[in-house]
Amino acid sequence: MNRSQISDELQKLVQARVLTDEPLKPYTTWKIGGPADWLVTPADETELGQVLSLCRRLELPWLVMGNGSNLLVGDKGVRGVVIRLGRDFSRMVWQDDRVEAFAGLLLRDLAEAAASRGLAGLEYVHGIPGSVGGGIRMNCGAYGGNLSTCVTSVKALSYDGELLELPRERIDFAYRNSSLFDLDAVITSVCLKLVPGDKEEILAKMADFQHRRETAQPLEYPSCGSTFKNPEGDHAGWIIERNDLRGHRIGGLQISEKHGNFLVNRWDGSADDARRLIEWTQEKVMELEQIELTPEVRFIGEFI
Ligand SMILES: Cc1cc2nc3c(=O)[nH]c(=O)nc-3n(C[C@H](O)[C@H](O)[C@H](O)COP(=O)(O)OP(=O)(O)OC[C@H]3O[C@@H](n4cnc5c(N)ncnc54)[C@H](O)[C@@H]3O)c2cc1C
Repeated sequence: MNRSQISDELQKLVQARVLTDEPLKPYTTWKIGGPADWLVTPADETELGQVLSLCRRLELPWLVMGNGSNLLVGDKGVRGVVIRLGRDFSRMVWQDDRVEAFAGLLLRDLAEAAASRGLAGLEYVHGIPGSVGGGIRMNCGAYGGNLSTCVTSVKALSYDGELLELPRERIDFAYRNSSLFDLDAVITSVCLKLVPGDKEEILAKMADFQHRRETAQPLEYPSCGSTFKNPEGDHAGWIIERNDLRGHRIGGLQISEKHGNFLVNRWDGSADDARRLIEWTQEKVMELEQIELTPEVRFIGEFI
């Protein structure tokens, strides 16, 4: 089957929501990234199942992205089908202190809805610009709290078309990592149990975290947040700062003057600039302190 026949097949499944050779740059917070062969947005689980089934039948590579806030997409783009979750995946279904949050929902919206109900537990993730699906897979967190703390189960649709429901006990969560990476599946929703609390206190905590972010982080420039994971007992940002690496620039990317772990895209840089700046920082830190920095950001697609 040739490219245009594949586009037609995809188009039949998800109607107007197939974009061919679509640059991924606008869909990432770093504002970097080459084109996806096909960017497909299934509206609901049925369409998602059909798209995965077509990928299987035609042996097309595929991957799912959330809000693109932890991705470095190569300049040559991504071969195959990139899935973004559409309409139905932004829902949340509440029952008392429990919620089923669908994977495309933004963490900010989920945390605000919880706060408005006087439910605590999501204040930590309010300022993280990711989706529920990306957030749980990455086990995102901040200020001592992680998204996984309140999770009771995760639902997913496997590449083979199987609906999975994984109870919390069957998932291993680690620092910015989880066993959900081993699943060949799209996470469709996450079930959470929150803790009744005082609405004003919850809102005040969220406002405090937001203030701390605005004070410490260069939120005015495109980035992927913290580029490197914190090594045991230390902070990647502090290591970069105490070795005077801030301000170093490669192409359009710069190590932020404000926060050492933020590599900001100040001058419309490329994935190659970002990759080279990441490698430069790793080499310097290894040379100066013999510490290995591991990227937190996930590399996808083809690089120059
Ligand atoms: C300014 C800024 C601040 C940040 N602060 C923090 C912070 O405080 N703490 C923190 O932990 N992170 C932080 N981040 C990083 C990022 O927001 C988180 O890692 C977030 O969880 C990524 O979610 P996403 O939806 O953007 O996922 P993406 O970046 O789109 O994807 C991340 C990974 O998840 C996978 N994925 C996404 N959706 C699904 C799905 N439905 N099913 C299966 N796999 C999926 C992708 O394939 C990819 O491997 C920050 C980023 C920025 C830009």
